[in-house]
Amino acid sequence: RQPVDSPLYPLLNAAAEHYRQALKSHPQRKYAVDYLKGRGLTGEIARDFGIGFAPPGWDNLLKQLGADALQQKVMIDAGLLIENAENGRRYDRFRDRIMFPIRDSRGRVIAFGGRVLGDDKPKYLNSPETPVFHKGQELYGLYEARKHNRDLDEIMVVEGYMDVIALAQQGLRNAVATLGTATSEEHLKRLFRIVPSVLFCFDGDAAGRNAAWRALESTLSSLQDGRRARFLFLPDGEDPDTLVRAEGTDAFRARINQHAQPLADYFFQQLCEEADPRSLEGKAHLVTLAAPLIDKIPGNNLRALMRQRLSEITGLSGEALSQVASAPRSHA
Ligand code: ATP
Ligand code: MN
Ligand code: MN
Ligand code: MN
Repeated sequence: RQPVDSPLYPLLNAAAEHYRQALKSHPQRKYAVDYLKGRGLTGEIARDFGIGFAPPGWDNLLKQLGADALQQKVMIDAGLLIENAENGRRYDRFRDRIMFPIRDSRGRVIAFGGRVLGDDKPKYLNSPETPVFHKGQELYGLYEARKHNRDLDEIMVVEGYMDVIALAQQGLRNAVATLGTATSEEHLKRLFRIVPSVLFCFDGDAAGRNAAWRALESTLSSLQDGRRARFLFLPDGEDPDTLVRAEGTDAFRARINQHAQPLADYFFQQLCEEADPRSLEGKAHLVTLAAPLIDKIPGNNLRALMRQRLSEITGLSGEALSQVASAPRSHA
């Protein structure tokens, strides 16, 4: 998946070191440190995640690491420098931001996310795709979670950098984030190679609820019997970061225990909102929506049980259901 060796790795590592050092000793570090403290982070957790600071200015990193033209070329390939197409000028991609290094499963820095310190837009800037960074495949925080505990039994999937870090700060060190992309089948395959259980916990807003349904769709093809996925929906306006800081670790754990919804429950609840099973037409639509998704499940027992549940809701026999599912009729 990733090249074994690449000149980008030592460079990205040096950049992470540069940003970390700036957070410790740059003359303007105070407002970056205050920002992180204001978000409830201690120095220890900032260290664990290698958080850094890209000071204001167009050429801090360029001056530090771009000794010659060849080196600058590598920095462009790594997504650290941008070259102006018209005048050929090169400048730092990340300026005046809190820097989150993104690591691969071996702990090598492969990219960065950078957050503005205020409310400017765009709030987050990520590294572009590079030979060592393929966005749809990486999970922020996975290396750190496994480093902390080699024996995880569940991984929580959240949306953002600060969700991962705030949860870790509160002692919940099993969260990973998808970095602004949808949770893919690829992500799920990786996760289920590590743990038998995945808990999705997205923001309490429309985007978060859409992300949850898309995550469900990506999960189906990984559901061998013995694996499970759960969904925790947060109150409107909250994300894991704001909620865990507001209510504390114990309450957040209790919330998971009481409210995390098994995939099958969420599946039927959501589809019954789209196709009201109180009418025959609704039942028919429900079968059309549900049957092809259920058929993606590789676990024979779970697939049979979900078909049975669909059959209970709609009154269609299992045999009728399998005909519907295997021979969809076009309305043309
Ligand atoms: P914060 O708590 O720092 O204000 P957030 O993580 O709650 O930010 P969201 O708007 O909920 O921010 O976005 C969730 C995640 O999606 C971000 O952490 C980031 O990884 C990604 N993301 C958001 N906006 C962008 C963007 N403009 N470009 C790239 N990624 C983004
Ligand atoms: Mn959001
Ligand atoms: Mn947030
Ligand atoms: Mn958020």
